[in-house]
Amino acid sequence: MNLDDRSVIKSAYIENRLVRYKVLRRKVRYARIDLTNGELVIVLPYRAKDEIKIINKHSRWIVRTLDQINEAKAIAERYRANSSIMLFGKEFKIEHSESFFVNHLLNTIYIDQYNKKHLTLFYRFIRKELLKALNAICNIYSNELSVRYNKIYIRNQRTRWGSCSSKGSLSFNIRLAFIPKELLKYVVYHEVLHIKIKAHNREFFKCMRDRFSNIDELDKLLTTYWFLTNLDTFPYNILKRHHR
Ligand SMILES: [Zn+2]
Repeated sequence: MNLDDRSVIKSAYIENRLVRYKVLRRKVRYARIDLTNGELVIVLPYRAKDEIKIINKHSRWIVRTLDQINEAKAIAERYRANSSIMLFGKEFKIEHSESFFVNHLLNTIYIDQYNKKHLTLFYRFIRKELLKALNAICNIYSNELSVRYNKIYIRNQRTRWGSCSSKGSLSFNIRLAFIPKELLKYVVYHEVLHIKIKAHNREFFKCMRDRFSNIDELDKLLTTYWFLTNLDTFPYNILKRHHR
């Protein structure tokens, strides 16, 4: 047996809650916690005694993040039970079909979720519609802030919702197609504001707070939706097949 493959499933009380987790021993310098796939994984260097220290150090963050992951799964389950998905802030019905088709009047997507060709067409549809929505919102915000943006790109980023280049080009994550309108606007405003203020300094957050009264709430919700859009279930699983 390869030592690298050795993983142990354990459970412990973290902040008074019984939590199952996986411990992996790896050739790493420092212990780390990984929650990206929705389960708690502790990666330990071979020399580390156990995982207790790192769990205790981050216990509140672990529990808070697990709550957000559970909330994301609950949102996904609600849509699944409804045979619907949320796209561009609107609820679309999902109907099984032999050919891919979107009916904008009925807000219905006809698709075979297991047909690769359909998934590619669906991905392109999302990309195109998201670009339209982003252009409209960026226009409003760039006028409001008296800035000019260069070009908008949509990417399948693994770590961020968006970014702003030094030349004023804006990149946005395709996952934004799946989040509520209010959150979409929040992310777009953040990036457009970066054209004016590069750094995350005091002035930047003052502008954000002046425009959005509840940024702590929005940040928290955004994390929940990050977990949602990284789930392995339809429609989010199409993002995993299309890395760029
Ligand atoms: Zn930023």
